[in-house]
Amino acid sequence: AHSRPVYNFSAGPCMLPRSVLQQASDDLLSWDISAMEMSHRSREFTDISLQAESDLRKLLSIDDRFEVFFFPGGATLQFSAIPYNLAGGVRRKAYYLTTGLWSSQAIKEAGKICDAVEVWDQGTKPQYTTIPDLSKWNIRDVKDAAYFHYCDNETVHGVEFPQGEFPFKEILGDANAHAPYLVCDASSNILTREIDWDRHSVVYGGTQKNVGPAGACITIIRRDLIDRKDLQRADTPVLCDWRQFMNSPAKYHNTPATWSVWVSALNLRHMVKEGGGLHYQKLAEERSRILYDFIDSSNGFYTNPVTPIKYRSRMNVPFFLPTPALDDLFLSKAAQRGLLELRGHKVTGGCRASMYNAMPLEGVHALVEVMKEVKDEWGK
Ligand code: PLP
Repeated sequence: AHSRPVYNFSAGPCMLPRSVLQQASDDLLSWDISAMEMSHRSREFTDISLQAESDLRKLLSIDDRFEVFFFPGGATLQFSAIPYNLAGGVRRKAYYLTTGLWSSQAIKEAGKICDAVEVWDQGTKPQYTTIPDLSKWNIRDVKDAAYFHYCDNETVHGVEFPQGEFPFKEILGDANAHAPYLVCDASSNILTREIDWDRHSVVYGGTQKNVGPAGACITIIRRDLIDRKDLQRADTPVLCDWRQFMNSPAKYHNTPATWSVWVSALNLRHMVKEGGGLHYQKLAEERSRILYDFIDSSNGFYTNPVTPIKYRSRMNVPFFLPTPALDDLFLSKAAQRGLLELRGHKVTGGCRASMYNAMPLEGVHALVEVMKEVKDEWGK
């Protein structure tokens, strides 16, 4: 039992609602065969998957043009699956906008499979503190590409597309029925705002941030793109082959991460009850506003490198103290108060607060409180 509240600011796996963990814990020991031990081909597990899919469809207003999958291999396996399924046929070229660590990982994998073109070349030491102006995007031949890939929220660098600011028309033209298809890595901001299903063809994200435990990758794919011999490579490994999953019972080709799907199902049900997508969008805006307002009012003691500020992430807030030596002081003071996992990613250094759907406003207020104390103590 905790003697004080604990807030986990980890970038993932991350905090889940305590009520969901309590239910998972109770169910584990009270069912004859728990969801962790049950066959993924059983009627019961199929029902769990169907419920998870139906709640996800409700929360994100996903319509019948799309299929929903809980794939293995995390988001990283989709870095490979996407080019195998979309850029292995008539079009071998794909465009990648690299705005941070994750989209640069995605293009690295795609480059092994297709002709992956970087939309914005930042040279050898990219900073990833902004999204470039459209005039800097190399999209001259984008109409010849199989697809265009972007990451809606960069978890490490804290850069997020503002709602509705993706230049759909410049990439897709007037319709999205044909290539280039728009592919979005929404791993760290899925379920925190609406997705435009008229524009996107594939949206994917690991479960371990806004949804549940690690182990599954929610991948939402336009149906007509799943079994297309003119787009796919014939040598696609089976775990990357969307068609294989589509044609398997309950859309599972092999044994899925049953634990992850089950706890995700519990949390998706919880999210529907809490008020659905709009509730989490407002919460994400409010949480990040509180933190950025404090950073901006700290007279430069705390800084966030993302510029212009409209590209600041609502989910992952990297911040720096005046010297790296102060990081440890801050981190230990925060940990004493139950504010955990605030150390920045190794590529950026500094600190980072990740605030996904289960993070209550109280957690952010507690964080600001400690940040204020550290500033008052050391910022003279
Ligand atoms: N894309 C983004 C935006 C991420 O934040 C991450 C992981 O943190 C990944 C992809 C990779 O996900 P996974 O670890 O599930 O493969």
